[in-house]
Amino acid sequence: MKKMELTCVVCPNGCLLTVWQEDGETKVEGAACKNGIAYGRTELTDPRRVLTTSVAVKGGVLPLVSVRSTAPIPRAALLPAVAALKDLVVDAPVHIGDLIYEDPAIGLTLLASRNVERAK
Ligand code: SF4
Repeated sequence: MKKMELTCVVCPNGCLLTVWQEDGETKVEGAACKNGIAYGRTELTDPRRVLTTSVAVKGGVLPLVSVRSTAPIPRAALLPAVAALKDLVVDAPVHIGDLIYEDPAIGLTLLASRNVERAK
């Protein structure tokens, strides 16, 4: 049985977790609370991350707008998602919370996380 050690990032305590599969169950040691147990299980079985990146803007006062996913997506989907955004260009103005991109297949909804006004 292969054990994985990781630091829980759910809160600043940073508990050192050990997680592994045994008898069809995911075991977690070292967590001081149930949130850490859930985090350890997810990291072993279905690790996810929030995607933060930037997208090109046409006609804006800035060439890029920062974007952020509304929820974590599978870690394995991060690089393909970034590659899919490579050629995406949105028109200015862009405002915080504007929908920039969606990929329902991986549960990705990207929203703008800053304003980019139209250039004068
Ligand atoms: S296990 Fe609980 S107390 Fe420890 S870092 Fe994670 S969330 Fe915080």
